[in-house]
Amino acid sequence: MKKILVLGSLSTDFVAITDRRPNVGETVQGNEFFTTFGGKGANQAVAAARLNSNVVMLGKVGVDSFGEDILENLRKNSVDVKCVESVTSVSSGAALITIADSDNSIVYVPGANGKVDGEYVRKNKDTIEACDIAIAQNEVSEDAIEVLAEICIEAKIPFILNPAPYRELKASILEKATYLLPNESECKLLYPDLSIEEAVAKHPNKLVVTMGSKGVFFNDGKESHLVETFKVDAVDTTGAGDTFIGGFATGLVNNLSLEDSIILGNLSASESVTKMGAQGGMPRLEELKNNKN
Ligand code: ATP
Repeated sequence: MKKILVLGSLSTDFVAITDRRPNVGETVQGNEFFTTFGGKGANQAVAAARLNSNVVMLGKVGVDSFGEDILENLRKNSVDVKCVESVTSVSSGAALITIADSDNSIVYVPGANGKVDGEYVRKNKDTIEACDIAIAQNEVSEDAIEVLAEICIEAKIPFILNPAPYRELKASILEKATYLLPNESECKLLYPDLSIEEAVAKHPNKLVVTMGSKGVFFNDGKESHLVETFKVDAVDTTGAGDTFIGGFATGLVNNLSLEDSIILGNLSASESVTKMGAQGGMPRLEELKNNKN
């Protein structure tokens, strides 16, 4: 069975819901507390694995109970974590989220995710070369992404780069990506002098822009297309982009065309927004088969 390699971040969200945010030095009583698993890397790995893809994860956690839980969650979702390293010097990645009056404030600590470097990726070259497609996002170092891109080019493995969250990357890395998948606002930051229409026309069969409830925009070399997503009652769009990428990669690795892979991404992501939570809403293949034609 073909394999998808995901290089990326692994973290836990610690969420407190309160009526009012504390002032400096103040303690307020919260109403609710819960934890969820996140990190764009982990989310994309789980999204693809839920669609029965064979997924291998590259990333790092700390030597703490949060790291153990992160790994256990990935294993439960059938993601291969044998190459994920535990590092002693820092904590596992964590986001401390306070929700008051429906507004978020977030302290994000990259922790072990900040230790994912080019040397670690190079060390896992054989594992990468045994995969059929690779994915990375912007929550690990530029060096790590660059080494992955180079290994993929050498081994002729398609490389999907999701430049999220936005940060400046070397032009040479963007060039090495086989597919570049920003959302609308990331696309505007990547190509500030171009409209979305002009940007996709300049990068045919490569730049695939997710546009929320509108769907996905790309150019097939002849013309640009908006591939509409499925109409649903959305309750929580957190992780929609990650779910899309899991579906898109699953399509490509199963030899679907670019457009059909986008449709599978739309199908999976539109289903995910009907449920709460990033990983919580990611559908299994059977659900998609049951719910849509
Ligand atoms: P997030 O940061 O929340 O993970 P994103 O900004 O990276 O999301 P979007 O472009 O908002 O990504 O959404 C990704 C995909 O999810 C869309 O291309 C579409 O397929 C699906 N999607 C998002 N919102 C909706 C919606 N309201 N209805 C149907 N599909 C949706």
